[in-house]
Amino acid sequence: MNFINMSEEKKPLNFIEHIINEDLKAGYDPAKLKFRFPPEPNGYLHIGHAKSICLNFGLGEQYNAPVNLRFDDTNPIKEEQEFVDAIKRDIKWLGFEWAEECYASDYFQQLYEWAVQMIKDGDAYVDSQPSSAIAEQKGTPTRPGTNSPYRSRSVEENLMLFEKMKNGETREGEHVLRAKIDMAHTNMLMRDPVMYRVLHKSHHRTGNKWMIYPMYDWAHGESDYIEAVSHSFCTLEFVMHRELYEWFLEKVYTQGDVKPKQREFARLNLSYTIMSKRKLAELVRQKVVSSWDDPRMPTISGLRRRGYTPASIRRFAETIGVAKRENIIDVSLLEFCAREDLNKTAPRVMAVLDPVKLVITNYPEDQEEWLEAENNPEDDSAGFRKVPFSRELYIEREDFKESANRKFFRLSLGKEVRLKNAYIIKGEDVVKDEAGNILEIHCTYDPNSRSGSGTPESQRKVKGTLHWVSIKHAVEAEVRLYDRLFEVEAPDGDKDQDFMSFLNPNSLEVVRGYLEPSMAEAKEFEQYQFQRLGYFNVDPDSKEGALVFNRTVTLRDSWAKMANS
Ligand code: ATP
Ligand code: MG
Repeated sequence: MNFINMSEEKKPLNFIEHIINEDLKAGYDPAKLKFRFPPEPNGYLHIGHAKSICLNFGLGEQYNAPVNLRFDDTNPIKEEQEFVDAIKRDIKWLGFEWAEECYASDYFQQLYEWAVQMIKDGDAYVDSQPSSAIAEQKGTPTRPGTNSPYRSRSVEENLMLFEKMKNGETREGEHVLRAKIDMAHTNMLMRDPVMYRVLHKSHHRTGNKWMIYPMYDWAHGESDYIEAVSHSFCTLEFVMHRELYEWFLEKVYTQGDVKPKQREFARLNLSYTIMSKRKLAELVRQKVVSSWDDPRMPTISGLRRRGYTPASIRRFAETIGVAKRENIIDVSLLEFCAREDLNKTAPRVMAVLDPVKLVITNYPEDQEEWLEAENNPEDDSAGFRKVPFSRELYIEREDFKESANRKFFRLSLGKEVRLKNAYIIKGEDVVKDEAGNILEIHCTYDPNSRSGSGTPESQRKVKGTLHWVSIKHAVEAEVRLYDRLFEVEAPDGDKDQDFMSFLNPNSLEVVRGYLEPSMAEAKEFEQYQFQRLGYFNVDPDSKEGALVFNRTVTLRDSWAKMANS
């Protein structure tokens, strides 16, 4: 099979595909290609992770290669089983399957044995200085560091101390194990990096077995090696770590094994959003949002609950691609991808979210009709449903003005509009309370104008078409209208101001909506287009007879409009 041609579809190859193809051209065995996605289970996955997931699993599909899911669970302080479960759920939901479920913690024994060997080989030593002293000796990019006074400890003493560290016989912070590289190295990460620290903490998988925990740089590359990962893709902040990654690999490498290759791509930054698990956790902890899957969160579970589809997220990842330089992607691109997908798949229904009563004075009081309505004009197979029509309807308050200029194509007195799937009506009168608020709009209808009836009147063109709901048939629901969680484009970008100060106080508005009765049957996570309003889905907070909807996105980008006006 020619793997190089497989990737040559319409899109130009990205630099990562180039790297792989170059390796294949140079004779790399395609059967040895293997990738991994390595989340730390210290929070829920966010849309940035989705980019990495789509990249790695996408490569797996493209090159017909396995992709491991590896939990980088080397820090017992922040990691939990809850996060492991959520991560697995999110990857599956995106539509990907991992070859093997792996845990860095499963390699603790192997890593330990390698570390012991490194001590024996004079490549590692136990430093017994406090971390502040170690930091001071690091030097600066232009000034070399200083050797630790413990750097020349004997192998025997190092082994004895390391053993004690492992068994929890030393205090936290008393000793660390460091690689012995070069304190004058131009790459500061190479100045005797810490490999192990002592933590008297129980780990969510290994319990109290280990009292030493490996640092990222030591654990990550070796885990790639153990799993025979061929290409290990990470984000740009690890560029400088690559040298260390390769140094550690050399220490444990056996001729003939797959030697993993670390390469770096730009992380996803999204406007009006923060993307660090630590900060997202802070939003949850301070109850700014209800939970990790609050529909305003940029987490995959939040987006799912908000009504995003896997297809829309995959499409987004595909559209932004992978690059070597960081930039900020406009969140409206993500919203665009949701609209585009939902437009094809979401059934249309009528719902009124800010109701005003409309009375059709010439419609018989006890009459009702069940009118034919198309479920999805974008999908011929979606069919039709029946929508009840009666004398008293709700329409959207903003769809009426007593007197309006020529640009107002909605209802006003003396003007005609069509009620979607129903009749042409004409505004006649309004009933107001003492304060001047409109209580009722009175109109008349043309009985011969019913949509689809084929009469000349039904084909008459009027400027506006309004959605509506028959009051006596309406299903009430709670509708949650979301806006951006942050008011500024880069809430994370200000060094002097806390991201919390940029929160949008109006990111959630809860209203009572009135829906056509077919919606009484709506099920959790189902998606709909509320005509003229946007895409909505059924929130899992819904209970029998008490539906809750989330607005996924409006039909148009209202922020873009605001920016242009
Ligand atoms: P955070 O800082 O948000 O906690 P992280 O990098 O610490 O993110 P990990 O769980 O370590 O989170 O990440 C797992 C994988 O996802 C890594 O390969 C990482 O590079 C990638 N990743 C994380 N954030 C992004 C992002 N914004 N864009 C692209 N890839 C990302
Ligand atoms: Mg991390």
